[in-house]
Amino acid sequence: MRVFTAALATETNTFSPIAIDRRAFEASLYARPGEHPATPTLCTAPITVGREVCAQQGWTLIEGSASWADPAGLIARTTYEELRDEILGQLQAAMPVDAVVLGLHGAMVAQGYDDPEGDLLARVRAIVGPDVLVCAELDPHSHLTAKRAAAANFFVAFKEFPHTDFVDRARDLWSIAVRALKGEITPLMSVFDCRMIDVFPTSKQPMRGFVDRLYGLEQSEPGVLSLSVIHGFMAGDVPEMGTKIIAVTDGKAEAGAALAEKLGRELFALRGTFMVAQVDEKAAVDAALAAPTGPVVIADVWDNPGGGTAGDATVILAELIGRGISDVAVGTIWDPIAVQICMAAGEGAQIPLRFGAKSAPHTGSPIDKLVMVKRLVHNAEMRFGESFAPFGDAAWISFDGIDVILNSTRAQSFDPSLFSAMGIDPESRKILLIKSTNHFYDSFSKIASQIIYCAAGKPYPNTPATTPYRKARRDIWPMVENPWAL
Ligand SMILES: [Zn+2]
Repeated sequence: MRVFTAALATETNTFSPIAIDRRAFEASLYARPGEHPATPTLCTAPITVGREVCAQQGWTLIEGSASWADPAGLIARTTYEELRDEILGQLQAAMPVDAVVLGLHGAMVAQGYDDPEGDLLARVRAIVGPDVLVCAELDPHSHLTAKRAAAANFFVAFKEFPHTDFVDRARDLWSIAVRALKGEITPLMSVFDCRMIDVFPTSKQPMRGFVDRLYGLEQSEPGVLSLSVIHGFMAGDVPEMGTKIIAVTDGKAEAGAALAEKLGRELFALRGTFMVAQVDEKAAVDAALAAPTGPVVIADVWDNPGGGTAGDATVILAELIGRGISDVAVGTIWDPIAVQICMAAGEGAQIPLRFGAKSAPHTGSPIDKLVMVKRLVHNAEMRFGESFAPFGDAAWISFDGIDVILNSTRAQSFDPSLFSAMGIDPESRKILLIKSTNHFYDSFSKIASQIIYCAAGKPYPNTPATTPYRKARRDIWPMVENPWAL
């Protein structure tokens, strides 16, 4: 057997001002054939797992290129086309193949392409013909278009959010592919459109229980090979945005469709109950002041660079400044220009500085202060689990009892080590203001006296009912109360 594998992935927030080109992929992950590191990244596990599986089976794995860019705004048209054509050229050269196993994200959007993955998969199908197995692993924060579903045999999406299971799901993908190639099963994909869009953290109920049931059904239901929830991605303004259920069965399309519908209707019945409760900036600061001890963590949940925003909103900081509150550390505010100015001024300098809120509307106003440049660090890094996340050249500035870390590489606040990397002891401050939706929780909960989830400003289109979509469908909840009556 000859199997071709490759990866092309990013998550595009079409409302983000951070347009990206090839450099964004090269900065995050760009590996030519055979150069992918031994450790998988979020959307490239089909390559590393494929190496193990093909070695075990004695099959030939032909590796194409693997590219991943951190979440941001639209991809330049030529960048997408170059990366796509690179993979298609490699596939053409590898022909004939018995299967194509891809690592995708599923929420890419490029200038001129609302459905890049559909475009890529349709071109893959055109090269290999109708009888070759084509499958891919997806992030659940993706758009499941009809074009994609028609071009591929099946998809497997991560079940967990946070996505702790991306390697396990790549194993599921390969295990189904191997059995299909051996002629043991015929994977068929059934899709149900839940007519909704929501956010579904699996770290809490009710999604925890729902996902646990999916694991159970995969074991107990005869003929069911894989069940996935495509959560959808509300920051992607594309025509087929929304939540879907995928059931992959062994040749039982009707039973798969019925199961997908049953699960989809259950999910719809739970709409609006999945998210952690959030407060606005005034209530967040009130709650932080009322806490007897620190550090109280205020998470600016929607200005999360991990969701493609700039990460330079100042709404909560302005609330703290306006009320004269001190003993605060802020990590981080993205402002490469301000960092450059601090670097030129040097440690110990006192300078007038304008910083933050320069990238997008509804993120507050730039802050103007006479600041002390306390510490400068080149190529700063914070811990993230077993690995490290870079946040670029960074400056610790201080004014009125408030310490702010300005960074030059967008990064969400994964870990309190972002403060210690700059010389700030996070446990010594009453209030820590950070930018992250969900990933921060594990590490910050270990030092926090209290955690407050704050929705401030509008850096991210987090209320689909009122988001000014131009392309996304409007026949789903919460844009309409009852989409089933339409
Ligand atoms: Zn995701």
